[in-house]
Amino acid sequence: MAAARTPLVAGNWKMNLDRAAATSLAGNVASRAAEADGVELVLCPPSVYLGIVGTALAIADGHSPSGVAMGGQNMSDKPSGALTGEISAGMLVDLGCRYVILGHSERRTLFGETDDQVAAKAAAAIAAGLTPIVCVGEKLEQREAGTTAEVVAGQVRGSLAGITAAAVGRLVIAYEPVWAIGTGKVATPGQAQEVHALIRSVLGELAGEATAASVRIQYGGSVKPDNAADLAAEADVDGALVGGASLAADDFLAIAAAFR
Ligand code: PEP
Repeated sequence: MAAARTPLVAGNWKMNLDRAAATSLAGNVASRAAEADGVELVLCPPSVYLGIVGTALAIADGHSPSGVAMGGQNMSDKPSGALTGEISAGMLVDLGCRYVILGHSERRTLFGETDDQVAAKAAAAIAAGLTPIVCVGEKLEQREAGTTAEVVAGQVRGSLAGITAAAVGRLVIAYEPVWAIGTGKVATPGQAQEVHALIRSVLGELAGEATAASVRIQYGGSVKPDNAADLAAEADVDGALVGGASLAADDFLAIAAAFR
């Protein structure tokens, strides 16, 4: 029997919006969070707007009265130092974050981030009290070559290398097929479920069945209000990591409501 997992829907705003739009979107989502009652919501703004989004969400000690949480889009694996342009896990916590997206395909592809670096960041995030949302997913040519399972299992193992079994239980995994991100091409519910089940079995090898059954696995890649319900109906799809559609409160909340 499936373990009870609270669905988690996170909005990855990427490098979008300005100060006014970020404030307004956060305020809108917070004031309408009850539309997705029973679903945990997370907003991941650009790091320069974490402060104002935290204020718009009235976050104190990491918690907003609305229940909407905040997350970073990336972080350094180092706690401080001469690392121009970087931000640390402690800084994210200081601004009220409870989550951080790690190893997003844009970080892996555009900035050359490796599984080893993601694993180091995940360990640093957990040590600081953050919940990492660790992203994995195959490229189109890998899916077409029939290597999806091998690629994704390898990324899960590599990105969680050195993470203790107990800490694995505190993570979230986001399965984001690279060919579906920002392309309008969503994985079919069956494709998503197949890979989510595979990820859960790899987590079982790493941390035991009970822990694996408790880990939330989000799907990401062109999730929209009109395809969210079919994805949400799959047994191992525990929420969504949403890019483009998270920039409009109506769409983001409609997606989240599909996971109720
Ligand atoms: C993402 O960037 O994590 C993502 C899933 O983007 P989109 O929803 O726009 O495909």
